[in-house]
Amino acid sequence: MRYTDWFEIIDPAFKSLILPNVHVDLLYTGGRWLEGPVYVPAARHLLFSDIPNNRVMRYDEVNDTVATFEAPSNFANGHTLDREGRVIACEHLTRRVTRREHDGSLTVLVDRFEGKRLNSPNDVIADRQGNIWFTDPSYGISTPYEGALAESEIGSRNVYRLSPDGRLDAVVTDLVQPNGLALSPDEQTLYVVDSGVEPARLMAYALDYRGCLQASSVFSECSNGMYDGLRVDAAGYIWTSAGDGVHCLDHNGRVIGKILMPETLSNVCFGGPECNRLYITATRCLYAVYLNATALRT
Ligand code: MG
Repeated sequence: MRYTDWFEIIDPAFKSLILPNVHVDLLYTGGRWLEGPVYVPAARHLLFSDIPNNRVMRYDEVNDTVATFEAPSNFANGHTLDREGRVIACEHLTRRVTRREHDGSLTVLVDRFEGKRLNSPNDVIADRQGNIWFTDPSYGISTPYEGALAESEIGSRNVYRLSPDGRLDAVVTDLVQPNGLALSPDEQTLYVVDSGVEPARLMAYALDYRGCLQASSVFSECSNGMYDGLRVDAAGYIWTSAGDGVHCLDHNGRVIGKILMPETLSNVCFGGPECNRLYITATRCLYAVYLNATALRT
């Protein structure tokens, strides 16, 4: 396969974001549905979820190997790092968001909203103020395949913000299935995927100086398959999963290019020492590609 076969250039701007003569590396196959990648710079490894197999996998970037990191994983899905480099995980089965401390112990950050159990936290990010933002759709309770069958106690599927003082706010309450989420580099725009509508949408919310949500707008509608997870690079370009590959969006929500993939994607994540390697979870496989784009460290 020629390297140009991996990339579809729709706008010339995309050409400056990719490198000549790079290939998309297949790093692992053998998962059932891979999702939720997080890169841990201090360990030079990537953790990612194999949700139906109830395990978290670890890609060792130095030795180029993959092994099981944690099993069972409570059907963990999305991961991120907080400002202190601790791994935050969304757990479907236990319907909670947890933090792995540096000494290895586990802290439950949140499992209820107003006394009712969460549905099944899906994806999570941390901002520079120490807030944890996460989505809570029903995918982990609507089938035992990715969690356990249960009724929603809350009755809606929300986006939440957990403040450093422990306060939990439902900040977006009108999406069908809030899924992946990300912040712009200046942390003034929150992007949230709604994967419960056809076509799936990427919503954009302006945040004011206190981090409160202002008006929302439909930023982009997915043209192939479904948006799920996304990351924003340091220049503000959005790299999102879709049915035919990674879609790269500019600040107007236009698709300027694609990284074409042979499998349906779930999530992407920047990693590597220079934060210029895009890791891609796609159905059974983990892929990675070096880009001429970098992301800010979380
Ligand atoms: Mg997701």
